[in-house]
Amino acid sequence: MPRSPIAIVSAMHHELRALLPLLHEPMPVRLAGRDFHQGTIHGQPVVLVLSGIGKVAAATTAVLLVHAFDARQLVFTGVAGGLRRGVKVGDVVVARQLLQHDMDASPLFPRFEIPLTGVSRFEADANLADALAAAAQRCLDRAEEFIGARHLLDFGVDAALVHQGLIVSGDVFVSSEAQSHQLRALLPDALAVEMEGAAVAQVCADFARPFAVLRTVSDRADDQAHVDFTRFIDEIASVYTRAIVEDWLLHAAHR
Ligand code: SAH
Repeated sequence: MPRSPIAIVSAMHHELRALLPLLHEPMPVRLAGRDFHQGTIHGQPVVLVLSGIGKVAAATTAVLLVHAFDARQLVFTGVAGGLRRGVKVGDVVVARQLLQHDMDASPLFPRFEIPLTGVSRFEADANLADALAAAAQRCLDRAEEFIGARHLLDFGVDAALVHQGLIVSGDVFVSSEAQSHQLRALLPDALAVEMEGAAVAQVCADFARPFAVLRTVSDRADDQAHVDFTRFIDEIASVYTRAIVEDWLLHAAHR
């Protein structure tokens, strides 16, 4: 029996497109309007898929990965808006915890708590997060080799850092200083905001599957958040994701 695959989920086309060339003997399966690309990367069985954007799209995808593909762990890769001071464009954020910032059933339940579960913060798998953060650090140390210092500086990326901590998700592209200020005030330890991670976290908690979320910071979730967004994903974030995922799987293969 082949080993259950590791699932690697992307929110956007450009991100999946960067990973697909790594896949050996790809075998696509179409389900629920999504193409699940099964195969191996450096000998590891994997399944790559585009989730689409937002919490429901991510949750549907995560359920299918567990149920139809028996994914043994899930890794969500993509971009996010930096929230906490010091989380800059070009940095990498690995989630230790995830929260749905648009969940609010108060006063029946405390703000951010998923009703009837008592949970507001989901824990990512610590080993997986550590392994991805280590791979991210190795890749950032070599970023100038595969992207080029001039190109990085064009995007204002300099001395990029890897952060680990709270990522918050909601069905909103946060693109004003007013919105990001409010999130910072309510959730001062939130490093970054995106639109899928905490949904995957909730599904993985239900199915007791280890998961991690790895994000390159594409913007500061402010009034400039949309500027060069697509170009940044194509030319920086997707290149990072591919390098980090490959490095991580290579190391995983040697454990
Ligand atoms: N204009 C883009 C919109 C993409 S939505 C397009 O047309 O393709 C943003 C995606 O990037 C989501 O998958 C989300 O997880 C992530 N993201 C990056 N920056 C974000 C921000 N500031 N707020 C919310 N999500 C963000």
